[in-house]
Amino acid sequence: MRPSVIRQSHGEALSPAAGGATPFAWEQIGRELGITPGGPVNIAQLTVDRQAASARGDQPAFRFLNADGGRHSVTYRELARLTDRFGNALKSLGVRKGDCVVVLCGRSCELYVAVLGALKVGAVVSPLFPAFGPEPIRSRMAQANGKVLVTTASAYRRKVAPIRAELPSLQHVVLVDDLRAGGMPDTHDWEVLLQAASEAPALVATSADDPALLHFTSGTTGMPKGALHVHGAILTHYATARLALDLRPDDVFWCTADPGWVTGMSYGIVAPLAVGVTSIVDEAEFEAARWVSILENEGVNVWYTAPTAIRMLMKAGPALFAGRRFPALRFVASVGEPLNPQAVWWGIDTLGLPIHDTWWQTETGGIMVANSVADDIKPGSMGRPLPGIVAHVVRHRAGEPREVIETPDTVGELALEVGWPSMFRAYLGQPERYGKCFAGNLYLSGDLVRRDADGYYWFVGRSDDVIKSAGHLIGPFEVESVLMEHPAVAEAGVIGKPDALAGEAIKAFVTLRRDVAPSEALRTELLAHARRRLGAAVAPKEIAFAECLPHTRSGKIMRRLLKARELGLPEGDSSTLE
Ligand code: AMP
Repeated sequence: MRPSVIRQSHGEALSPAAGGATPFAWEQIGRELGITPGGPVNIAQLTVDRQAASARGDQPAFRFLNADGGRHSVTYRELARLTDRFGNALKSLGVRKGDCVVVLCGRSCELYVAVLGALKVGAVVSPLFPAFGPEPIRSRMAQANGKVLVTTASAYRRKVAPIRAELPSLQHVVLVDDLRAGGMPDTHDWEVLLQAASEAPALVATSADDPALLHFTSGTTGMPKGALHVHGAILTHYATARLALDLRPDDVFWCTADPGWVTGMSYGIVAPLAVGVTSIVDEAEFEAARWVSILENEGVNVWYTAPTAIRMLMKAGPALFAGRRFPALRFVASVGEPLNPQAVWWGIDTLGLPIHDTWWQTETGGIMVANSVADDIKPGSMGRPLPGIVAHVVRHRAGEPREVIETPDTVGELALEVGWPSMFRAYLGQPERYGKCFAGNLYLSGDLVRRDADGYYWFVGRSDDVIKSAGHLIGPFEVESVLMEHPAVAEAGVIGKPDALAGEAIKAFVTLRRDVAPSEALRTELLAHARRRLGAAVAPKEIAFAECLPHTRSGKIMRRLLKARELGLPEGDSSTLE
């Protein structure tokens, strides 16, 4: 029998227990970053330029591992120069403070230069996941009003060029890998643009409250929401990197998330540069043996990854780890989905370290609840609120007042007292949806949790119908809309069904138009249509034909009923909200 608590040798970090009681000294965090109260705050300046001007200037900020085995590094000083150049290039294209720059690239050096160069000149950066198909890209770019798109030649040709006419705000496309051999019309070549740009400091003054990052996230209904974050969010990124990830200057750090998602931005770019570490960037996709070699051979000290990846490594089997040693590894953490106790124990058995679960979401901008280095771990629990974060469990059923539940082990919605620096400041253009996220001074997360008598939070589930597949948040509405574009489909309902590896797999139920008969050929055609339009990460893996779909009285598809039926659960148990 494994114990229910893993004792930790408490580091120098603050205990999360301090979170509720003591007001957290955000000013002190600001001072550590060199911010003067009321003074300018710019993420690129406080990360790249600050480190470049320090004794750390010639240390690698990023070490890129190519798919073919090659590797190259870029130092803080080089990054400062490159981001100045790209920032100046953006200015020459007419980019002004507040304009949106969309980045749709693989994890190449250019992606990191583009993000940081754009932040430097006060542009709002919206990163998109490169595995998205044309439809998720179109809907997000249209909402973002992107003025410049930085992308690869192949992504542009396949996904953007065909819809460019639908994106009137898009003025410039920069191709990072187009060496002008048959260059595409109406695009700029990265290399040419950078060569022509000045290396003079490109910084444009921004304040803590100026918008910096726009991350799209999915809800149950409607199209994706653009969560807007400000430059001041760096305070959370920096503090939580220290407190929740135990990140220390000069560490080698590997955050496996793609910068197209919030984890890859907050903890793949901003936090590690703010602390002053060398980040490993693997340009290739997941491959178990490759990942083990990276952990072993790159001297990774701190590893931040996702439960799906851990499950895939567990599935690869112990032989992969036989004789492997990870002496440099000091701290391992995960985010994005529930981390089950077996995974925590697998970490101890295989890596010699437990895996520390952390909880947060696009809207919070940074880690809020964690099994930090300063606290004992209860495997299966998300941990406790970090210093500076005050969390509550509140009643969540429709029609009930949003009162705080004090009784331990009672299920309710996880709510956070507003005021932490990385809290999102808007859903772009959707003030009503933003307003619905708050009750008084509480931000309502949409996650159902319980808190035990020791203050540890345990994830119970979502209060809505969004799907978490391989760590990616997917809105059923977006998938349903694309299925309904197909002339054979009358209606579609999309759910997440449990999947041993991905956590949830996307399944669609469709009804067909009267004159169309179901067939295997049609099922294959619909799967291919969805994959082409949505991209592999968002498309359903399974499609079932249905005679009719269940509806509420107001006509909405009852996805929870579809899910209950799929899982063989009593239908009456399937409603939580509404
Ligand atoms: P995203 O906004 O895409 O980062 O997704 C955030 C959502 O992922 C949360 O609202 C949770 O539903 C889920 N999530 C994140 N971290 C955890 C965790 N440690 N345990 C369980 N679910 C998590």
